[in-house]
Amino acid sequence: MSDVSAGELSACHECDHLHRYIPIPVGAKASCDFCGSLLYRHIPDSLNRSLALYFTALILLLLANSFPFLSLTLGGRVVENVLMSGGWAMYEMGMGDLGLIIFFTSIGFPFIAIVGMLYLLVSVRLGYVPAGMGPIYRVINMITPWSLVSVFMLGVLIAIVKLQDIANVIIGTSFFALCALLIIFAAARTNFDPKVLWSLTPHSNPNESDLNPDAIYLNCHTCGLLSEEQGHQQHCPRCATPLHHRKHNSIEATWALLMAAVVLIIPANLYPVMTVIRFGQGEPSTILSGVVHLIHSGMWGLAMIVFVASIVVPVMKLIVLSYLLLSVQRKSLWRPKDRTMLYRITEVVGAWSMVDIFLVGLLSALVSLDALSTIRPGIGASFFAGVVVVTMFAAHHFDPRLIWDNVRENDQTL
Ligand SMILES: [Zn+2]
Ligand SMILES: [Zn+2]
Repeated sequence: MSDVSAGELSACHECDHLHRYIPIPVGAKASCDFCGSLLYRHIPDSLNRSLALYFTALILLLLANSFPFLSLTLGGRVVENVLMSGGWAMYEMGMGDLGLIIFFTSIGFPFIAIVGMLYLLVSVRLGYVPAGMGPIYRVINMITPWSLVSVFMLGVLIAIVKLQDIANVIIGTSFFALCALLIIFAAARTNFDPKVLWSLTPHSNPNESDLNPDAIYLNCHTCGLLSEEQGHQQHCPRCATPLHHRKHNSIEATWALLMAAVVLIIPANLYPVMTVIRFGQGEPSTILSGVVHLIHSGMWGLAMIVFVASIVVPVMKLIVLSYLLLSVQRKSLWRPKDRTMLYRITEVVGAWSMVDIFLVGLLSALVSLDALSTIRPGIGASFFAGVVVVTMFAAHHFDPRLIWDNVRENDQTL
């Protein structure tokens, strides 16, 4: 396949510079000269490998939902939990919004992504282009940043450590299936080369000699096909994704979402995220008092993780995105590569803030021994989930290519 496409052009998704496809050795990856973003990798036999891995991931996900996940024993009583319990507990306690977020990010989205990928890969393996390939692949790309199995696992580990002083935690079969899923799902994603999906379609990118020097080319963010700009509301001929020169209203939308996050972050920190009721007495705790409590209990490591994920990361994200927006608006030429890197880190790190939400959900589901010991979610958790979701949307709306537009304007030789 690599020989067929040698010489073909493609545009970098983060800075929009054109690159010529050059065959690279097995296992190697090609990065953009300008912004350092990954362009493509050479994965031998990607189709069969990713097919096998996605299939294994599906089996593991089904196993993870078929057995007990965690159980809690206290004073002769046992509370058994399945994987869905966290989301369900939230729903039962009248916090359906959090219940849905927990359900979709820990199980729902990974399931849709795995089944969707299997549908596409099996069809391509059988030698035909499946119906709806473009839209389905686009949906998978959209939900992938929201498939937070690894963040959920971190929440589970923190919950286990935190509960040791209250009761005895028994780890179930489903827990191990989820650990294995975490590894296999990550491997499936890294072994998948998007080129295999589009190799059966009749479209391909132009070579350098075929390029129309007068045309503006639009890069499809789903399949990477370059199309000549023709006018308004253009769609990619290969995958039907709407094409834009730049994300529509990127600066305004990102600012609006950042402002919403600033408003939400106040109640998220003032109101309790959960209340621990022991022998009928409730102690509400906010994000910060939860961290202080962990320090007093001698759990320094956990206190650091919760502090960084729940306070440092959201605040840093707001600061970094505001800085990037201002730098674009002021047409800054300063270190575009580092600013793109900063953006990339912000986009990836943000999801880890969800760990606190998972923790509250898991604790509420596990610790429900009525008068003896009960943990209830607080309204602060809803606000905090709002902060995480809104900042993730903000990062998604920011268009890193704007950083490079200023550089290009200034230096036409690029
Ligand atoms: Zn680039
Ligand atoms: Zn496309």
